[in-house]
Amino acid sequence: MKPIPMLDLYQQYKSIKPEINRAIFSVIKQSAYIGGQFVEKFESEVSKYLKIKYTASVNSGTDALLLSLQTLGIKKNDEVITSPFTFFATAEVIERLGAKPVFIDIDENNFNLNPDLIEKYISKKTKAIIPVHLFGMPCNMDKIISLAKKYNLNIVEDACQAIGAKYKNQYTGTFGNCGCFSFFPSKNLGAYGDGGLVCTNNQEIYEKIKFYRNHGSIIKYYNDEIGYSSRLDGIQAAILSVKLKYLDIWNSQRRQKAKLYNKLLSNINYLKLPDFQQKKNYYHIYHQYTLRVLKNKRKLIISALNNNKIQSMIYYPTMLPQLKPFKKYKFKSSDFPICSKIKDEVLSLPISPELTQEQIKYICQTLLKYN
Ligand SMILES: *Cc1c(COP(=O)(O)O)cnc(C)c1O
Repeated sequence: MKPIPMLDLYQQYKSIKPEINRAIFSVIKQSAYIGGQFVEKFESEVSKYLKIKYTASVNSGTDALLLSLQTLGIKKNDEVITSPFTFFATAEVIERLGAKPVFIDIDENNFNLNPDLIEKYISKKTKAIIPVHLFGMPCNMDKIISLAKKYNLNIVEDACQAIGAKYKNQYTGTFGNCGCFSFFPSKNLGAYGDGGLVCTNNQEIYEKIKFYRNHGSIIKYYNDEIGYSSRLDGIQAAILSVKLKYLDIWNSQRRQKAKLYNKLLSNINYLKLPDFQQKKNYYHIYHQYTLRVLKNKRKLIISALNNNKIQSMIYYPTMLPQLKPFKKYKFKSSDFPICSKIKDEVLSLPISPELTQEQIKYICQTLLKYN
């Protein structure tokens, strides 16, 4: 068996090579490198796909979050509630604006922030909630929306790992004031470089994001505020337009692979599998297939996989409150009992539309030997 990487992007490219090459060449031919028709076309395609009024593309998922929070007026001394178990950028942008991230423990069944714990942490300073649809699994948006209404809070969804995921048949990212997506190459809809997008149903928010992404100006050379240089470039947009057509197929292929994993691994006593496949109301798109390795066996399992040339990853080995930039808040790990436990158990296995049945079987056979 050849080595099995987490993801093989070249394999994916080969499956759509003529279309991608044509798309790149058409941008070069028009020299539409920054802004222009390819970016506008992609934005309108995403709006249509997500069934939302406005989308503004930006430089990255991180900037999508940053510009959203700034547009909603998040500033010094505000508090923003989010998950301790996510990629750093989710909380980085809160801190960057001088606000304080308030981390809330996760639900051990789906790794997402536990909405039942939120209310206790809402203060006079709380301005927003950032739910993260981690690994492509939607959060329970009903609970989060009702709290946001009750306390008049903004919702900025971090849907960077969840493009195409659905909660109650509605796309993640379209519930909040803003929804943020990343086109980092390894994401389910990945560019060939950096990229991101904010979606919203609010025209004012949309205009403001476009204003900030372009140096705080609407009319060139008339800058009204300090902004950013945060635009999606034409080549990325053209590539993403091609790939968007395949997103639903690719996501459903990921779900099939996850289902096969779950079937083949169901009798392994040291594993706790993700059990979302059949869950009503939650359309999980498996950006990652992440299980829990119990009984202190994670190190052993990782090296067993390694010895068989199977890559695996730990998303995430740390919880955000314990990282240096957040230490000043003096959160204790006992504030996050579930997250503290789970970060030492999680393991993500290879998953992608290109992963074959044979590869999955081989991975599962390797894991079975340690039962
Ligand atoms: C990828 C990711 C981001 C950041 O996206 P970039 O495009 O890499 O800036 C933010 N939040 C989560 C949960 C992510 O997975």
